[in-house]
Amino acid sequence: MKTVRSMVLVSSDPVSMERGAQAVHDGLLREIEAFGLSNEIDVMLVGDLGRHDALPFVVVYPEAVVYGPVTPADVHFLVEEHLYKGRVATSLQAAKRELTGRIAWLNARKGTLPAEQRIVLERAGVIDPESIEDAIAHDGYQALGKALTEMKPADVIAVLEQSGLQGRGGAGFPAGLKWKFVSKAPGTKKYVICNADESEPGTFKDRLVLEGDPHAIVEALALAAYAVGADEGYIYIRGEYELAQQRVKKAIDQAREMSLLGKGIFGTDFNFDLHVHSGAGAYICGEETALIESIEGKRGEPRARPPYPTTNGLWGKPTLVNNVETLANVPAILRNGAAWYRKFGTPKSPGTKVYTILGNVNVTGVIEVPMGITLREVIAIYAKDMKNGATFKLAQTGGSSGSVIPASLQDTPMDFESFGKAGVSLGSGALLICDENTCVVDLARVLLNFFKNESCGKCTPCRVGTHRAYDTLTKISEGQGTPGDIEQLLMLCDGLVKMSNCGLGQTAAVPIKDILKHFRAEVDAHINLKVCPAGVCSMVVEEAELA
Ligand code: SF4
Repeated sequence: MKTVRSMVLVSSDPVSMERGAQAVHDGLLREIEAFGLSNEIDVMLVGDLGRHDALPFVVVYPEAVVYGPVTPADVHFLVEEHLYKGRVATSLQAAKRELTGRIAWLNARKGTLPAEQRIVLERAGVIDPESIEDAIAHDGYQALGKALTEMKPADVIAVLEQSGLQGRGGAGFPAGLKWKFVSKAPGTKKYVICNADESEPGTFKDRLVLEGDPHAIVEALALAAYAVGADEGYIYIRGEYELAQQRVKKAIDQAREMSLLGKGIFGTDFNFDLHVHSGAGAYICGEETALIESIEGKRGEPRARPPYPTTNGLWGKPTLVNNVETLANVPAILRNGAAWYRKFGTPKSPGTKVYTILGNVNVTGVIEVPMGITLREVIAIYAKDMKNGATFKLAQTGGSSGSVIPASLQDTPMDFESFGKAGVSLGSGALLICDENTCVVDLARVLLNFFKNESCGKCTPCRVGTHRAYDTLTKISEGQGTPGDIEQLLMLCDGLVKMSNCGLGQTAAVPIKDILKHFRAEVDAHINLKVCPAGVCSMVVEEAELA
């Protein structure tokens, strides 16, 4: 009989797999067998473990010792030292992420800092994502069973409304209200869609859920379908997310085999099935109406709104579209109740938020923390400070579509209400943290380059405006700026915000407006003094101009 004393988890995100995670996993199995430990130790490939500084990681439980990067050549030593002799193989250990205590500001707030809290990612990196049995052993499909056998659809929506869950795609729209709109929309045929077309640069939080806990999304979509009266759903996954697609498809097959999808789920008269639709690389398909067009086989262009998808969505039927992070909260809320969920975050923005941390910091990766944490806390606690002792200058939230947050706002709680009051947006949750060596003109230029390339071209303000704005910023960054450029940029922003057909054009204006609001002197220096204060832009200036 097998009595497991240790669990060994191997990260299996795409980077880990590329760096030999499978060979490490297979080597661990071989070495464990060679040491006669197969009856005591389990080895499992899990999803992304949320940090990326030393991939692939091997984590040994119950001690929770993190090793990384581990190569196949390290495996014999690791097994002999840790699993056979019971000593931590310190030479293979990954750097610790705990607080250093060296920041005076942190010390002053010791004991009051918010801790990482996992709801969305509670099983990611813990379970075997390719095993429905493992998901079920960790409460998977419990909420669905409870909803179908004990609750009416309206009760499910009521719990979601009471929980205060807001959409995590960026806008923060109340999820329960959206579900209610679809449930009340007339019609017998309705759809639910998971928007997994995660294409914001630097954003990969949804991928972690899809790769690490695909059953959470299958269960959440089934719950959503039950609540709104749908019998069919789609998961629209970014085309580049091959591993995520593979695992979601496997999860759907497993759920079908166990009658957790299909007809008469849990012995009730509820029928529901799911399809996976692969994106083809267009950023705009993350916009819900463009995504719907794409599923219908048309060119991925946003529709004019109203009517909204809640009444006229996929094939003209009422359709609920939620993003991965929003949906991943739902099973836990249904299992534990709305009051439990409201214990996390702030009264007006309950729950947690998953952030990807990137940029000029010591530790990059993924965190899930209660809503309301500040940027200063994220940088100090989870990113372990700015790299090389540099000074924090700004953070760009949400890939390309978020705001540029200056250092003066680093103590603003990151929740929908506080950020809204401060005139900034949370975006998708990618935090690009930049030091004083970042040039704001260059940053805005890079972002506009992205927008001009991704504009679908349907409407003129966006199709032409993003190109004009990019050209103007490039001119400024090359030392060719003229005094009227700022006025022209502001005029272009006005056109983008007021006349664009969808969010892409509207948000293309955000980085320009933000740098002009918070870093105007730096932009002026480029235009009037032909100087890039951060030393990034290559100024091509004729000597006669400087005379
Ligand atoms: Fe397309 Fe841009 Fe118009 Fe949106 S705003 S519909 S992306 S051209």
